[in-house]
Amino acid sequence: MLPFLAVYHSVVISFRYLQAYPLELQQQVQKISEGPGLGPWLLSRHPHVHGVRTDSALYAYVMALKNEFLRQADPINKVTFDSKLHVIQHALGMHTTTSRVQGSKLKTKRDIKIAALFKETPVAFLEMIVVHELAHLKIRDHDKAFYKLCQHMAPHYGQSEFELRIYLTHLEGGGEKIWSPA
Ligand SMILES: [Zn+2]
Repeated sequence: MLPFLAVYHSVVISFRYLQAYPLELQQQVQKISEGPGLGPWLLSRHPHVHGVRTDSALYAYVMALKNEFLRQADPINKVTFDSKLHVIQHALGMHTTTSRVQGSKLKTKRDIKIAALFKETPVAFLEMIVVHELAHLKIRDHDKAFYKLCQHMAPHYGQSEFELRIYLTHLEGGGEKIWSPA
């Protein structure tokens, strides 16, 4: 009896990042975690870490995507990696809007904070979180139109979010960081 209970318990605890996915998919993840392990599986899918190491490099990365897809949206004020930001707190990221009066005009400028965890991930994960934050320049809620826009900017958006959640599951289960800068 006890071993069964123990396994059930560990599934419930460690899969909280994957609860929105169909049970069948969660069971596949469970199989991977019992088989090769989530770490080796993720590393085989994404062998390399990206090279965006600093806030200014991150700013350039964000602006390149914004200029490609959302040139007309509100301007961006500041982009930073934030080590205090919890990844899932605001459904993966956080965005703040600053309104400043300049002369007689009220100007809206956006700050984008990216959780520091994304410094050491494959580029697919960074792209996903940046696209998510950029999409909020246009759409506030996580509705259908929002995810459609994300998918438009990053065609593998859905897959990357799923894999990121597997990575969080791996870390929460006591797994080591998988990617570190060369
Ligand atoms: Zn969001």
